[in-house]
Amino acid sequence: MATENYNPFENAQAQFDKVADVLQLDSSLKALLREPMKEIHFTIPVKMDDGTTRIFKAFRIKHNDARGPAKGGIRFHPHETADTVRALSMWMTWKCAVIDIPLGGGKGGVICDPHNLSVTEQERLCRGYIRQLYTQLGPNLDVPAPDVMTNGQHMLWMLDEYETIAGGRYPGMITGKPVGMGGSLGRTEATGFGVMYVLKDFLREKNIPVESTTASIQGFGNVAEYAARKYTQLGGRIIAVSCWNQTDAKSYTFKKESGCDIEQLVKIKDSFGSIDKEKAVAMGYELLPGDEWIKQDVDILIPAALENQITPKVFPYISSKVKIICEAANGPTTPDCDALIKERGITLLPDFLCNAGGVTCSYFEQVQCNMNYFWDKSEVLEKLEYAMTKAFRDVYRLSVEKNLYMRDAAYIIAVNRVANAVKLRGWI
Ligand code: GLU
Repeated sequence: MATENYNPFENAQAQFDKVADVLQLDSSLKALLREPMKEIHFTIPVKMDDGTTRIFKAFRIKHNDARGPAKGGIRFHPHETADTVRALSMWMTWKCAVIDIPLGGGKGGVICDPHNLSVTEQERLCRGYIRQLYTQLGPNLDVPAPDVMTNGQHMLWMLDEYETIAGGRYPGMITGKPVGMGGSLGRTEATGFGVMYVLKDFLREKNIPVESTTASIQGFGNVAEYAARKYTQLGGRIIAVSCWNQTDAKSYTFKKESGCDIEQLVKIKDSFGSIDKEKAVAMGYELLPGDEWIKQDVDILIPAALENQITPKVFPYISSKVKIICEAANGPTTPDCDALIKERGITLLPDFLCNAGGVTCSYFEQVQCNMNYFWDKSEVLEKLEYAMTKAFRDVYRLSVEKNLYMRDAAYIIAVNRVANAVKLRGWI
């Protein structure tokens, strides 16, 4: 979403431009990589349960597919914009490149609020999305996945619509499907766990025991939930969790100094990640305004919700105790805040590295679908941890060697890989 004065696509371009200059990319390569290669803007007519027809605006944007088919989620959000989807498609290109999987970058979105749609209306919306986009999707072309407010059931309706039109089975055309229906074990956990594999390896590198650390999390959707579960399993203590409350149309921070019981909070949240405030208060949680999550005296901040959350305006509220910002969301920090983070000596573990676990497991899902042979969960998670740790170490090593901010190091590796693919294909 374009929050305050921040436009996510301008942010993504500003981040890219900086690295393009460092890498001295020639002007045509720079021009190609700073824009999506293809954009589709369309409308989806949906028959509503009350007999009326509503028209939803939707997007699918391919940033770059030089390294493989475009890959990226579809978001359902009332404030979705073309520029948000553009930025997210670009970040997917860098994400797949930094983790070194043979996929490109794409993203989709529908302007809608699934809170206000019945299950059958959601199904018709998913099927309508595919009908409009059928020729542009496929296992070797562009492969969607879940994202903000979409889930495995949405993916399965989309697959079913695609296969009905195609007249065959193409399980690799979409990922994040339910287990038993072409989904991979571990995919639900993958993004959140992946964030923690990166954090764990960084803490190991610095000889900091996880058990000695505390964290505050923004968001309680899929990524936040599994990041929080893994972090507490590893021995870390979460002091605060902030999330959206649909009824009150605002967010709240739930705080427990002795440590939030994540399993308990999961039991009292809805499918969109909103924690029931009355039940939480009854369980002894302190109820604070939504933005309090960022002000906590913790070692680690984990923004795991939406873009543009850590800005120069809120930066002064970050406690001097905070040593690490672990970006689980896409684009949570604005580019004008990076300098402040660097100056304060806070380590930033960048989004498209940290949250690459989801797409990495999506890639494993496609591989398993192609073989029609599915791995057990431990094998999936082992492969995931290996991929995440390897990518982190490459980025970390470069950042140490060249004294770079970790976001810049991750960008240098990713942009170099994509630029090479473009050149090898003879596009430039
Ligand atoms: N939506 C996730 C992301 O932003 C996963 C994408 C995918 O699996 O293709 O990384």
